[in-house]
Amino acid sequence: MSNEIDTEHAEIFGAHQLILKDEELFKDIKKDLKKKRINVEQIVQEVFGKWEKKIKGQEISAIQERSNDVIDVGRRLLRALVGSTNKNSVLDRSKDSVIFAHRLLPSDTASFNIKNVKAIVTVEGTQNSHSAILAKALDIPFVSKINVPIDSLPRKTRVIVDGDKGLIIVNPTQAELESYPLLIQKRLSNRTKVLKRINNIPLKTNGELIKVSANVSSLSDIKMAMDCGADGIGLYRTEPLYMDSQNFPAEEKLYLQLVVALNCVGDQEVNLRLLDIGGDKTLPFLDIVEIKDAALGLTGIRLLLKYPSLLEMQLRVFLRLSAKFNVKVSVPMVTLPKDMIDVRRYFSQEKEKLGQEKIPFNKALFLGAMIETPAALMFIDELLEHSDFLSIGTNDLVQYIMAAGREKKEVSEYYKAGNHLIVNALKDIIQKAKEAGKECSICGELAGNLKFTKLFLDIGLRNFSVQSTLVPYVKYKIIRLTRKPGCSFETLQKAEILCSNSTV
Ligand code: PEP
Ligand code: MG
Repeated sequence: MSNEIDTEHAEIFGAHQLILKDEELFKDIKKDLKKKRINVEQIVQEVFGKWEKKIKGQEISAIQERSNDVIDVGRRLLRALVGSTNKNSVLDRSKDSVIFAHRLLPSDTASFNIKNVKAIVTVEGTQNSHSAILAKALDIPFVSKINVPIDSLPRKTRVIVDGDKGLIIVNPTQAELESYPLLIQKRLSNRTKVLKRINNIPLKTNGELIKVSANVSSLSDIKMAMDCGADGIGLYRTEPLYMDSQNFPAEEKLYLQLVVALNCVGDQEVNLRLLDIGGDKTLPFLDIVEIKDAALGLTGIRLLLKYPSLLEMQLRVFLRLSAKFNVKVSVPMVTLPKDMIDVRRYFSQEKEKLGQEKIPFNKALFLGAMIETPAALMFIDELLEHSDFLSIGTNDLVQYIMAAGREKKEVSEYYKAGNHLIVNALKDIIQKAKEAGKECSICGELAGNLKFTKLFLDIGLRNFSVQSTLVPYVKYKIIRLTRKPGCSFETLQKAEILCSNSTV
């Protein structure tokens, strides 16, 4: 703070530290906590309130003024206790900023004040990284693999980030500065045009309905999905509800946040995914050694089964939501059929508890496996027995089949090759799910790649789940493929290039 403002003002924070260290205050909190045995947030609020009054009652005005500091510290402490992030990061400060970073974790992206971020540029990472997925879902250009020495770019440098072409222009010319707003405008009007074209046209092939739903991970994502005409939510990544927090959210907080989100979806179906932590998705407050660098370790359902209270709480929240909303639940990173059997046991247990407490829920709530590991592919028959539906996560499936990390740019060629390789394996799963009368969707990034749409339709896929902003394009492509040939549309061709560009 001394660098940012001046030393004199920075000393205010020294005084705040002293308040936090005050033994009397701490004693009061401990005493009340022991006596009242209620939540600590309540106690902090009461004790700080008492101290504020005490200081205000002093005769010397200089001391009276200190009451503001007590209020300030009390509020910040409360914010920390209830898990609201203390947004004082450099990322949240200036409007229209471009974030430059070597690598971004999803928790970083989740904590941005997204309104101020115009674009993101990273040295590491690919379009399959979770940060890229989170950013793109909000229509924020995300460019990676750049060769600009980002450390040497002075602050306030003007840049254009072209997410379509995957490049950045440092210190653009006047002509470039003038042309880009027009391009952005055109892009938006293209989407509107496509949206108009797809409006109310049923997606069908051989009499079978085709659904294009959206992958989301936040409220703004959901709103975007609905604006883009998504047929429900095919994958709700719940991790950001945990990442943008300073502790595990309490049951009620999680429930209420999801109620707000689900209220935007109407009666369309939403696939809520259980917490999928591990790999690049860590929780800032979780200090479990096993999940650091857990790509082949304690990820997804494995972590939840090791710490069942986490699983039980999520299942309980999802069950409660099922009383009001059209939801289903998917299980991430399944490998053994036993994973599904174990989750089902906790599922029944939570149903029983809710039943005893007379809390309503949908008794027929669907529970399905995500197919995103080679083992799950091999156990597909057994997994189908224990699943009400399947959801194929190609992002992870490809990286594990190809032994090529989804975030590792050095092996992106292998990753791309893997995308083509798995189509046949997917045919088998889709066919088996169909025979078992169970729904099967693809929700990895590949589902939104227009170069694969025809292949997917040919192998029997009827449920696509893609990034919100791609919904109109995928729908339009399906309409073109399933209707009479000859209706070409320039915008779609451009979109095809856009969706297959590895740096967008
Ligand atoms: C996937 O792996 O394809 C998937 C949809 O899950 P995530 O990208 O969140 O790992
Ligand atoms: Mg995955």
